[in-house]
Amino acid sequence: MPASTPYSRFQDTLSAVLKELDLADGENDLFAEPQKTHKKDITITRDDGSKESYHAFRVQFNNARGPYKGGIRYHAEADEEEVKALAALMAIKTAVVGIPFGGAKGGVQVNPKELTKRELQAVSREYVRAFKDHLGPDIDCPAPDVNTTPTIMAWMRDEYEQLTNSYSPAMITGKPMSFGGSVGRDTATARGGFFILQELVSRDALDPDELKVVIQGFGNAGAHMAHFLHNAGYTVVGISDSQGGVYAEEGLDPVRIEKYKHKTGSVTGEYCEGSVCDIERMKLDNVRKVTNEELLTLPCDVLIPAALDNVITKENAKEIKARYVLELANGPTTPEADAILEKRDIMVIPDVLANAGGVTVSYFEWSQGRSGEQWTAEQVDERLRRVMLDAFTAVRRKARRQNMSFRHAAFAVGIERMLDAMRVRGWL
Ligand code: NAD
Repeated sequence: MPASTPYSRFQDTLSAVLKELDLADGENDLFAEPQKTHKKDITITRDDGSKESYHAFRVQFNNARGPYKGGIRYHAEADEEEVKALAALMAIKTAVVGIPFGGAKGGVQVNPKELTKRELQAVSREYVRAFKDHLGPDIDCPAPDVNTTPTIMAWMRDEYEQLTNSYSPAMITGKPMSFGGSVGRDTATARGGFFILQELVSRDALDPDELKVVIQGFGNAGAHMAHFLHNAGYTVVGISDSQGGVYAEEGLDPVRIEKYKHKTGSVTGEYCEGSVCDIERMKLDNVRKVTNEELLTLPCDVLIPAALDNVITKENAKEIKARYVLELANGPTTPEADAILEKRDIMVIPDVLANAGGVTVSYFEWSQGRSGEQWTAEQVDERLRRVMLDAFTAVRRKARRQNMSFRHAAFAVGIERMLDAMRVRGWL
């Protein structure tokens, strides 16, 4: 059997959902491949005067519901298959939260850590030069992704405005606050997931004070989530990053974890220097060091993968103790693990719903860029809450009515909304 790829995994879920929907002949085929894949090699002059070229791509999956939307990643192993899968997931995600965008993703095969700041700027500007005819506020609006930052978004906007002799703040999102960014974009992914969890907990008549949470990853998504949950009364018992994790049955304080992460570069930094830990102090605080594998199977009510894809697998799905899995990361659960969790009645809130707060506030940024308005933090928070709860309600209703998992229901809601737009446009 050929090895699965990110795109084949997307297709597996898609085919399973399409079978459960009542579609006309030919409608399935609309989701088989992206509408457009643009590829170019971009060349920059390195600081030592040599020339270097990098493979770059922009995959535009579907724009039936509005301009293509999705991040650009810089990674030595960024490849077309992965970018294609992420573009497809973006199309489903924007439809699930009902914002007027399609789905896209971009990538450059480069290790940005090997570039100086000037070289990084050159790559970013060249990317826009390579794809400028396919980008624009009404065509395709990129955003940050792995290893791309607000500063990179600012360079890209500037390059686009120079090339097109225009004022186009809405051509890209995730910009710095001083250059057309939106308040609340930095916390949006976690905030959106938090609203969903709060709703779930309230509908299941549970009390946050009695719920234990484990979070894998302490970056943008994971760290903000830890703070929101801690402040709302949940007990965050496990936290990890790439160097390992800590577990405390009575709860960890995310503020302290953040402080030590900042100081030492690791969430274990309060107790450990590399692999050497102050065991006495850990005992005193009732804290124990755990590996990332162990972290996923710790006793808790809510497990939040917020780091990498494919971490919940058929090997560890049987050991997971949580009753809810909230996917802040993209693609953290393999299809085999998904089936095991479903059988075990563990509710998985899928990435296309759980982490859609980020793209939702990107939409708010795009709207502000077009209208010239500047919304307050309260306006962003309230509108995000409304969008996330509407999406949650639509997915939950679908899951109940058609007896589907939340993942299949979210895909079904997204696909049906995309098909509605395609029918109106006469594409079918
Ligand atoms: P980030 O780079 O800010 O943080 C990633 C975290 O994961 C870091 O703490 C890192 O140490 C940790 N990590 C790396 N390797 C690990 C490992 N092997 N085990 C455990 N932890 C590990 O990234 P982020 O923006 O927080 O994104 C995290 C996930 O959320 C990704 O899957 C991303 O695609 C998804 N996501 C993020 C956003 C967003 O707006 N930031 C939006 C949607 C989805």
